[in-house]
Amino acid sequence: MRVSLGVKTQQLLSGVFSPSAAVRWRAAQTRLLCSSSPDAEKPRPSMLRHLTSKIKATGPISVAEYMREVLTNPVTGYYVRNNMLGPEGDFITSPEISQIFGELLGVWVISEWMGAGGPRQLQVVELGPGKGSLASDILRVFGQLRSVLGDVSVSLHLVEVSPALSRLQAQNLTGDGSREADAEDEPVYRRGETAAGLPVSWYRRLDDVPTGFSIFLAHEFFDALPIHKFQRTERGWREVLVDIDPEKPEQLRFVVTPSPTLASSTLVQANERRNHVEVCAEGGVIIQQLARRIAEDGGAALIADYGHDGTKTDTFRGFKGHQLHDVLASPGSADLTADVDFSYLRRMAGGGVACLGPVTQRMFLKNMGIDTRMQVLLRNCSDPSTRKQLISSYDVLTNPTKMGERFHFFSLLHHSRLAKPKRPEGLKLEKKSPAPLPVAGFTELGFS
Ligand code: SAH
Repeated sequence: MRVSLGVKTQQLLSGVFSPSAAVRWRAAQTRLLCSSSPDAEKPRPSMLRHLTSKIKATGPISVAEYMREVLTNPVTGYYVRNNMLGPEGDFITSPEISQIFGELLGVWVISEWMGAGGPRQLQVVELGPGKGSLASDILRVFGQLRSVLGDVSVSLHLVEVSPALSRLQAQNLTGDGSREADAEDEPVYRRGETAAGLPVSWYRRLDDVPTGFSIFLAHEFFDALPIHKFQRTERGWREVLVDIDPEKPEQLRFVVTPSPTLASSTLVQANERRNHVEVCAEGGVIIQQLARRIAEDGGAALIADYGHDGTKTDTFRGFKGHQLHDVLASPGSADLTADVDFSYLRRMAGGGVACLGPVTQRMFLKNMGIDTRMQVLLRNCSDPSTRKQLISSYDVLTNPTKMGERFHFFSLLHHSRLAKPKRPEGLKLEKKSPAPLPVAGFTELGFS
């Protein structure tokens, strides 16, 4: 069904995607075929040693604890030490493939800000910003749509656990215009300003981000959060743990607990039908925080990740140099990830906010007008190699066999956003109530 959200979001799109809007291509092709980082090749005995001594001291650890240690241990964690994204990295993400992706999300942010009545203050909060490419593309759109934003006060807030990545983000977003906090325990551990004078702040935890009307973005963030793994047995649900292999003390293995754990008793749904389940309790807590903030202060959250709606069973996997990697082998040298269970996120969001999606990335981007954007760019581009790159990155983002159907978009919204606008009292002009303003990306836009 086509609806005419239309007019406003279409105007936004035409402002951003005018023929004069510059094409800033990232090297999409090469990034898809890149090799593993030289750093990742180095053995990480310290992480394995750290894990084995932990297990020797306290017994097998949960998969969640294993994942947390491997990815975000403050000294040896994968995210803390590596720059895993880009030509030398282990995986590639949509914002790194094409600027169009971030531009469309920038339009989404402004469209939701408008849908909320254009509050005078707008916090854009990104969880796990990687290299800062998405935020940078969004801010460029803000620059192009300054006339729409008027004198709203915009600030950027980045929740990032990795000091190494935060430095990279700062360089991309503020050049040399950022400074680390003097004390290590400052909630804002880095502050800066973009060339356009927009304030940027870095936090380790969402809790530290100031309250206020915010649009939250999380792209490939939830899949990096620790999951618990559970298995149905004849004696009920049991948790899968990580232990040292008794045959090979330098190796780890999975074991199933003989009796229930606190996690297996509390995190598996009573009516669960699957035999293996992964639950990301940390993701659930973050969703609850987002839902509470949106209910209290207004705003929205847009979560994009690969995932399922409570159907998949075993998705925990590692990535190294763009290849699948054994999750227990050389811990700390590879990315660990698990598909996001959107049904769980919806349940954890509760009734205080409205949830939309998940919809596939292909549908979201098409609804956001990616085809129109492509047409404009191709029409104005005569260089054959740039044209080829444009077409190839569009294909990677939208092709159902590539990222188009593996990635999904899910949103939390303030209830007022979907409520039908009230008719003025006393008037009985028409029978039909006006429809609520559609939410961009989740509804097809008409481009007539
Ligand atoms: N959003 C980016 C990067 C995805 S990788 C992109 O799509 O390109 C995951 C990001 O989340 C990294 O920046 C990583 O350092 C960060 N991260 C992982 N776990 C985190 C945690 N618990 N708290 C905050 N940031 C985290």
